[in-house]
Amino acid sequence: MVVVQVRDWMTYKPIAGDEDAAAVEAFDTMVERGIRHLPVVDPGNHVIGVLSIDDLRAAVPFEVTRETRLDSSERDQLRGIRVSDAMTWAPVTAHPETALDHAARLLADNRIGCLPVVDTRGQLVGILSETDALSALDAILRNVAPAKPADDVDNLLDELWAERGRLVEQIAKWQQTERALLDEAPEPGDLADRAADLGAIAAIEPLSARAQRRLRAIDLALERAEQGRLGICERCQGRIPRTRLRAIPESTLCVRCARTAVA
Ligand SMILES: [Zn+2]
Repeated sequence: MVVVQVRDWMTYKPIAGDEDAAAVEAFDTMVERGIRHLPVVDPGNHVIGVLSIDDLRAAVPFEVTRETRLDSSERDQLRGIRVSDAMTWAPVTAHPETALDHAARLLADNRIGCLPVVDTRGQLVGILSETDALSALDAILRNVAPAKPADDVDNLLDELWAERGRLVEQIAKWQQTERALLDEAPEPGDLADRAADLGAIAAIEPLSARAQRRLRAIDLALERAEQGRLGICERCQGRIPRTRLRAIPESTLCVRCARTAVA
C-alpha cells in the first residue's frame, strides 16, 4: 500500500509571520489570506511558533474572529501586543515525509488546528491544516488517489497571487484616474475638456470591470486553495488541468465534467 505523506496534502511555502510584528498586522494578514493559523519564523525561516485566531482572542478582552471588524480602539489594543506575546511557542511540527495518518493523530491528540511542516533543519516548507487532513481523508474514503497536485497547485498559487497584486494595483490606479477626472471642476467654456474627460472615463470602465471580474475569480480560486479543493473536480474528484485553472481560476469542474454539465 502506498503511504500517503504530509507532502501530498500540505500547502507549500505558506505565508509566515514575524515574532516582533504587531498582532494587528498578523490579524490583517490572516483575514486577507483567509487563514486561521500563521506559522511564525525567525530570520532564518526556522519555525518558532504558531499564531492562531484563537490565540489572538485569548490575548484581548474582546471577540476576535476572521469576520470581526475591529474598531480603532480594538485595533490599537492588538497593535500593542507583539506576535510573540500571543503565539504558541515551539509548536508540534511534521516533516514532508511524515505519514499522513501520523500527522492526523498529532492534530487530534494535541487538539491543534495545524502542523507547520519543516525540513531537517527546522525551516518552514509547508503547513498542514485540519482542513487539509480532512480533504485527504475524504479522498481516501472515496478511494481516490491523492488528487491534490501539490507542487503544481503551488506554482499556480504563486502566479495567482502575483496576478492578484497586479490587478489590485491597476484597479486602484484606474479608480484614482476616474476620481481625478470627475473631481475636476467644470469651468464655463470647458465643455470640450469635459467631453474628453467623460470619454476617458467611458474607456476605463469596461477595463476596470473586466479586471474586477478576474479579481473575483482569482479570490474564489484562492479560497478553494485554502480549503484544499483547488484543482480538484467537484463532480468526479479528478484533476482540473492547470492550463484550465489559469484561464478560468474559478472553475470547479474538469473539462469532461464541465462539458457534460453544459450538454
Ligand atoms: Zn470531473
